[in-house]
Amino acid sequence: MKLQELVSQTAERIATYRDKVGDGPVGPTVDPDSLRAAFALGLSEQGTSSSDVIERLVAAAEPGLVATAGPRYFGFVVGGATPAAMCADLLTTGWDQPAFNAVTSPAAAVAEEVAGGWLKEILGLPGSASFGFVTGGQAANTVGLAAARNHVLARVGWDVESRGLPGAPAVRVLASAERHATIDRSLRLLGLGAGAVQEVPAGPDGAIDAAMLVRALDAAPAGPTIVCVQAGNVNTGACDDLALACQAAHEHGAWVHVDGAFGLWAAASPSTRHLTAGIEQADSWATDGHKWLNVPYDSGYVFCAHPGAHAASMSFTAAYLVGHGSGPVRAPSDFVPESSRRARGFATWAALAELGRGGVALLVERCCKLARRFAQGLGALDGVTIANQVVLNQVLVSFGDDERTDGVIAAIQRDGTCWMGGTTWRGRRLMRVSVSNCTTTEADVDMSIAAIERILATLA
Ligand SMILES: *Cc1c(COP(=O)(O)O)cnc(C)c1O
Repeated sequence: MKLQELVSQTAERIATYRDKVGDGPVGPTVDPDSLRAAFALGLSEQGTSSSDVIERLVAAAEPGLVATAGPRYFGFVVGGATPAAMCADLLTTGWDQPAFNAVTSPAAAVAEEVAGGWLKEILGLPGSASFGFVTGGQAANTVGLAAARNHVLARVGWDVESRGLPGAPAVRVLASAERHATIDRSLRLLGLGAGAVQEVPAGPDGAIDAAMLVRALDAAPAGPTIVCVQAGNVNTGACDDLALACQAAHEHGAWVHVDGAFGLWAAASPSTRHLTAGIEQADSWATDGHKWLNVPYDSGYVFCAHPGAHAASMSFTAAYLVGHGSGPVRAPSDFVPESSRRARGFATWAALAELGRGGVALLVERCCKLARRFAQGLGALDGVTIANQVVLNQVLVSFGDDERTDGVIAAIQRDGTCWMGGTTWRGRRLMRVSVSNCTTTEADVDMSIAAIERILATLA
């Protein structure tokens, strides 16, 4: 089969899947054993024709897919993919460009240059900030904290990039009790250790207790210090007081890293921008493209107010590498932990070009509005209470005691009209609703609420 036909056949499969992704049950419909049977065809000696492989893959995988790309998946914060972003990602695969630098792909390097500038503009970050296109929030946190580690140790005369951490002055990390687990993993990977964290309590809404942060900074001995704050608590959507945290941290010579995997996008809309006031004063920022911006996986961004520290922590050079460093085109690889890597900038460029600044703002606003619609609709049902103030796209729902709530969540997942997950918040089991897909409509929310009402009636 000609490549042209194979690509058309594949495109057809994708389009068919996406057309119907909102029709069937949202959760998986098969058990792992039947998936194993479908995939474990036996590794053949001679291989199989490309066309057969694709048909077999579709047949094996589709029953085991979860409709996370569809309009009624409200688990975690998964986003979807805008049409242009998805197709740009297909082109990226077709072009197969290693986005190492402008020698391996001038187009990939320049697309990242432009898209990075657009992202800073939309998120209200300093125009002078450096940036890297990484795999996701985990990697963005790791790179941001690597730049922080470089900077706070350089200030006390320690070159961590050459000397490492043995014998280095201790680095203290002040972070909220409500920080995302990826912060701890980043600290482990960087050799700072999760134990470096001095935990600051969070308030009832899940945002860091700013007064306690100030007190912790005041009480701490001078020395290399990193403050980790968050935009968008994974349960409540609450954002830390970035302005206050930055002011207090900077008075103490500390670095401020913002984990805003989804919540940083609050800055893109006039209706939620107040939640991230002071954002531009931080030292590094992490966010995702594959969550709220609706770029396909894998897509995260790290930004840094200190390009020198950022590049010092990530760049490397070798004799055979050309076009490296301060050439006419920014070298993407100076700002990320990978060398050979996917040309991620194309999909982000496409999403931003397609949506425009206003479209990104609308996407954020619409998701928040739909989250409020969920809170209103579900809160009006008998025996249902909304457990958080819906400030962003996150809603926490209680159906009674823990056992009852878990039972209702399981029944909703079995029903398949929509998919929501469970969480434990302030010692209670709750259902967690995240609205982050660009295709979700009011009708999807209403259909989901109606399904939940029906389920509650059968369980009563
Ligand atoms: C999702 C998330 C992360 C991790 O991002 P990945 O893209 O999954 O690596 C980090 N922090 C917060 C607040 C998140 O919501």
